[in-house]
Amino acid sequence: MISDALRDARALLFPVDCAGCGAPDRGLCDDCAALLRPAVTPRTTPGGLVVHTALRYESEVRRVILTFKEEGRTDLARHLSWPFGEAIRAGLAEHPEALIVPVPASRAGYRRRGFDPVRILLRRTGRRFERMLVPARTTAVQKSLGRLERADNLRDALAARPGVAGRSVLLVDDILTSGATLDEAVRAIAAAGGEAVGGATMAFTPRLHRSRDMTGTEDYGGD
Ligand SMILES: [Zn+2]
Repeated sequence: MISDALRDARALLFPVDCAGCGAPDRGLCDDCAALLRPAVTPRTTPGGLVVHTALRYESEVRRVILTFKEEGRTDLARHLSWPFGEAIRAGLAEHPEALIVPVPASRAGYRRRGFDPVRILLRRTGRRFERMLVPARTTAVQKSLGRLERADNLRDALAARPGVAGRSVLLVDDILTSGATLDEAVRAIAAAGGEAVGGATMAFTPRLHRSRDMTGTEDYGGD
């Protein structure tokens, strides 16, 4: 596994194009960096969890996030941690007592990428967090499934550590798509005696039903 520092160094040594628009010689051009300015808004999952999100997952922003996640461009984390950090700040403003708990990468996602994007972003925010959730079993690749199958596929996909009992939790993830993953995380936290009081994600998918928005992001189903 390649360390973060080595990945950053590689990105510096080998010329890269802008992750958002493809302009030459800059890892992220000024115009695309400006598009990462957070506009934090609360959204609600089907299960009723209020989730603060900072960016619309579309066009250049979507390409920057995909490049970060799927091409191992972890140098982009320093840009993406800004909107992510602002979404978390909004969540904590409502629940200052909450423990920050990341949704873990699925086993398949971790194997494919060699890193956990959410954890890298969280480290960049400088916030304390605790890995209270773990993948409980192997999930099928969600994008190949229909809507009902997706919900079935996610059931019991996550498990929470006993240490979460009695704690309030702010769940954090990279992208809010259908909300099914966060709802599964809420269930897992409750099953271990904790309570998920809110959520925060870097971005949300404005058009839930366009399958191309899921491409390349699926972990537990594009969320
Ligand atoms: Zn650009």
